[in-house]
Amino acid sequence: MIKVVKFGGSSLADAKQFQKVSNIIHSDESRVFVVPSAPGKRYNADIKVTDLLYECYELAAAGKNIYEPFLAVKDRYNEIIQGLGLNFSLKDAFDGIENKLLQSPEKDYTASRGEYLNGLIMANFLGYDFIDAADVIFFDEHGNFDAVKTNSILSAELAKHERAVVPGFYGTDFDGKIKTFSRGGSDITGSIVAAACRAVVYENWTDVSGLLMADPHIVSNPAVMKSITYRELRELAYMGASVIHEDAIFPVKKAGIPINIRNTNRPEDSGTWIVENTARRSKYTITGIAGRKNFCSIVIAKDLMHSQPDFYRKVVQCFEEKNIPLEHILSGIDTMTVIVHESKFIEHEQEVLRRITKLAQPESLEVESGISLIAVVGRCMKSQAGTAAKIFSSLADARINVRMIDQGASELNIIVGVLNEDFERAIRSIYHIFVDVI
Ligand code: ASP
Repeated sequence: MIKVVKFGGSSLADAKQFQKVSNIIHSDESRVFVVPSAPGKRYNADIKVTDLLYECYELAAAGKNIYEPFLAVKDRYNEIIQGLGLNFSLKDAFDGIENKLLQSPEKDYTASRGEYLNGLIMANFLGYDFIDAADVIFFDEHGNFDAVKTNSILSAELAKHERAVVPGFYGTDFDGKIKTFSRGGSDITGSIVAAACRAVVYENWTDVSGLLMADPHIVSNPAVMKSITYRELRELAYMGASVIHEDAIFPVKKAGIPINIRNTNRPEDSGTWIVENTARRSKYTITGIAGRKNFCSIVIAKDLMHSQPDFYRKVVQCFEEKNIPLEHILSGIDTMTVIVHESKFIEHEQEVLRRITKLAQPESLEVESGISLIAVVGRCMKSQAGTAAKIFSSLADARINVRMIDQGASELNIIVGVLNEDFERAIRSIYHIFVDVI
């Protein structure tokens, strides 16, 4: 039985955290492949090693002195090595990185060294083999992750090792250069490694005891979700909930491997299970709530709209022309409402409206901004009567005006639109009506 364990930056921020990680790994024989991030923040005002490395790159690329941030990087690793009492030095690796920065700085290469160096320390500390991600993780000619090539090379390599560390966040691009995933991308590496060795679980260790049912900045002490399906997670992640990198879901999902989010600082907590499907009912009707602010609604009215089959297409085309993603489309008998995010719409607003007027010839066009969307997500909603009633009565009790409602046929979520100023209050009201039931 193989488990792949990925540790985030805060789990590896200093020697004390490394020790906790080692205890976790050694407490379970099956934790054989380890994917580390770069050292993260030790305290709030601290700087992540990855950010220091990006700073080194920016300075080097501008021909400026990198002494200070590079020294800070070296200090972080040296403190970890000393704190763990290892007889091991990264001096040669530091020199190599510094030379490269001074001679031909490359952004992704520089950033990737955070994980690379941490992986070397981790392998030495655990007594595990080290597999350089550059040798086993690949991107194609378009810069996308190359699953086919990676899978065959990576699984063959993993099979040669009983226990190994594979640093997160990077691989090799089509031209043989180091390339990183987007920020937080070590989560993706962990998922790729888990899929390649057919792990029984992908454990993603972080600094919270799982996914929270709501944003803790809005709801104090939200409950932890015990389990969530991939589809529910996608809905919540899209609406702003974040714990794991969105792209980390696909490799394990495809391979049918569950993800278990765990807390390095509280390993006794069982965390959250992210699964393809589950018969387990969640404790509450809803699985979670998430939301985003600053949407616009464009209400397009035209009599007998439904008798013109090309009306929708014409409207959609006007947004497509400007590459504006449509978040939601709602329809009435003679109206069509399009919801878009302000950040994508405002700069093209007049052009889009002009195009709609020309192409679709509506009777009227109304634009409203400052709308927040809140997604109430839950696989158990469809089998329970009264869920929508509960949501709306909680909002009515809080005197919050609902501007829009959208429930997909899958009944996995209900989306409500409220004014930005009601956003936080709305989330709290909905949370409390479902979770604080006595
Ligand atoms: N170290 C990288 C970052 O800060 C990748 C990661 O932590 O997953 O984004």
